[in-house]
Amino acid sequence: MTEHTRVDYGADDVDAKMRATPGPTRIHDGQSVAASKIVCSACPVLCNISEGRTGACDRYANVAGALIRVDPVVMLRKHDGSETAKAATLVPFVREGEAWQGDILADERLFVTGIGASSTYPDYKPAPFIVASQVDGIDMVTVVTEAIFSYCSYRVKIDTDRFLGPEQASVRYRGEVVGHVTTAEYGSQMLSLGGVHHLTGGSKKEGRATCDVMLALGNRDAVEVTIDGGATLALTAGRAPIVDGVLEQRMRVGCGSATIGIFAPQWLGHVDEVIVVDDHITGVLSEHQAGRYIGIGRSGIRVRGRKSTPGRYFQVANPGTGWGGTDVSDPLEIIESIDARIAWPGLRLLMVSTTGEHHAYFELDSGLRPVPKEMPEAVARVVARIGENCEPSLTSVLFVGGAGGSLRAGATDNPILLTRAIKRALVNVTAGGAPTYVWPGGGITFMVDVTRMPLHAFGSVPTPALVAPLEFTLRMADFAALGGHMQYVKSLDEVLRHGSYHVDGAPQGLVLANASAANPWPLSALAMLG
Ligand code: SF4
Repeated sequence: MTEHTRVDYGADDVDAKMRATPGPTRIHDGQSVAASKIVCSACPVLCNISEGRTGACDRYANVAGALIRVDPVVMLRKHDGSETAKAATLVPFVREGEAWQGDILADERLFVTGIGASSTYPDYKPAPFIVASQVDGIDMVTVVTEAIFSYCSYRVKIDTDRFLGPEQASVRYRGEVVGHVTTAEYGSQMLSLGGVHHLTGGSKKEGRATCDVMLALGNRDAVEVTIDGGATLALTAGRAPIVDGVLEQRMRVGCGSATIGIFAPQWLGHVDEVIVVDDHITGVLSEHQAGRYIGIGRSGIRVRGRKSTPGRYFQVANPGTGWGGTDVSDPLEIIESIDARIAWPGLRLLMVSTTGEHHAYFELDSGLRPVPKEMPEAVARVVARIGENCEPSLTSVLFVGGAGGSLRAGATDNPILLTRAIKRALVNVTAGGAPTYVWPGGGITFMVDVTRMPLHAFGSVPTPALVAPLEFTLRMADFAALGGHMQYVKSLDEVLRHGSYHVDGAPQGLVLANASAANPWPLSALAMLG
C-alpha cells in the first residue's frame, strides 16, 4: 500500500456516545504508536487514530484509548405480519459489572446482519459474529461479516425508452469516468457502474469518484451522472429516473411490434392504420401478422427504415428523447411514401408511441396527405389503455460483489469448501438479510437488490473500496464439515448480551430493526430442506 491515510477525522460526539471498552489500548496488533494514538487494522489504510477521533472511514474511533466500532450492529426482527412497524431499538452490549438492558429481545426471532458488524481486510481474523441458532429443531449457524469489496459494481436498470447515450459510452460522476452504458434490455436502458477497473486502475480522483457514487447509490441517495454523447441522469434506487431534468413516468408496454400485437383487436373498426413508433422495432398494423389476423387491409403507407419482417421496421429514425425513444418530434417524418394505388381519401391513421405518451390522429385528404384531426373517443380509449398498461418507471440498482476472496477465511480454514457448499445450495447467502443471487461458475459472485437491504447498509474505506454486509447461513453440521471456525461459534443469546467475540474494533451495541416483509426470513430457507 502506498496510500496510507494517517489523518484523524473529526467525530465530535464520539466520546459522548461511546463507552470505553476494556482491553488492550496503546498497542494494537503488535504496533506501537504514539501514546495517545491507536492503529486501526480493520483495513489496509491502517489509520493512526487519536483519542476522541475517528479513522478515515468514520467507522472506527479511539475512545479513551480503546478502538471501537462507532455504529451498532444491525439485527433484524422477523416480521410478525402486523401493520404496525416497531421502532428501531438501540441496546448496548453488557460490559463487566453492568446490567443488561435487552431482556425484551430474548423472545424475538432475530437475525444478525453484517451491517455494523466490523471486520478485517484482508480477513486474517475469524468473522466477528458466528452465531448459533435453532430453527424448527435444526442447529443452524450464521457467519456474519462486513465485507470490504475492491471487486464490486452495480447494474443499474433505468426504465425508459429515451436514448440515454450510445452503448459503451462512458458514464461520468464529478467529471470522472465511473462506468459505461451497457446492453439495453426490454423497456430499459442499462448502466454498468463501478468495478475494480475504475476503483483501482485509474487516477486517485477516478477511484474516489467511483467509490463515492457507488456508496451513494447503494445507500439509496440521489446521484447525478452524465453520459458522454447522451443525457444527464438523476438516479435514486427505487425511484423514478430523471432524464435531462424530466421525471420519467412510464415504462413502455412493449416494443412497437408487441404493442401492435396486444392492441390490434381493439383498433378494429376504428382506424385503418396504426404505426407504433419505436426506436428499436416500429410496428405497422396493416402489414403486421396481428393486423392480417383480424382482417385489416393494406393501407399503402410505408415507413422509413429497414424492414425486418412484415409490419416490423428497424431504424426508422435516430435514437433520441422524442417519440418512442427516437429523435422524432413530428411523427409524419417517418412516413416514407403513401401509395396512391392503395391508399384512399379519408383513410384513418393513428400514430402512437410505445408508452402512449405521444399520439396523433390523422385522416388522408383528397391529395392523400395526412391531416391532423381530433382523435375519436374509441381510439383515444385504446391509447389510454396503452398508458394504463405501462408500469411506473423505476431506477433499479443491483450490487454485484465478489466474495470469493479472503473473507472466506473468516468462516473456514479451507475456503474452497465454503465456495463448494454455496454452489451446492447448502448455504443461504444474504446481504443485510436480503436474498442474493450467486452466479454460476467459479468464485462467489453475488447480486443483491439494494432496495431489499436495510437503508444505509453500505460504507466505504479510502483504499478505495466499498463496505457491504454479508451473511452465510448454513446447518451447523455442514459448517463443521467444511472446517468452519467452531471455536468461535456463540449462541444468539450470548451475542445479544455481549456482542462479537473480539474486543478491538467491536461494535458497542445493537440496533434492532424490522425485517422487510418482502424478503424471505434468512434463517428459514435452509432449515426447510430435508
Ligand atoms: S477501517 Fe476505517 S478507520 Fe480502520 S484503517 Fe480502514 S479507513 Fe482507517
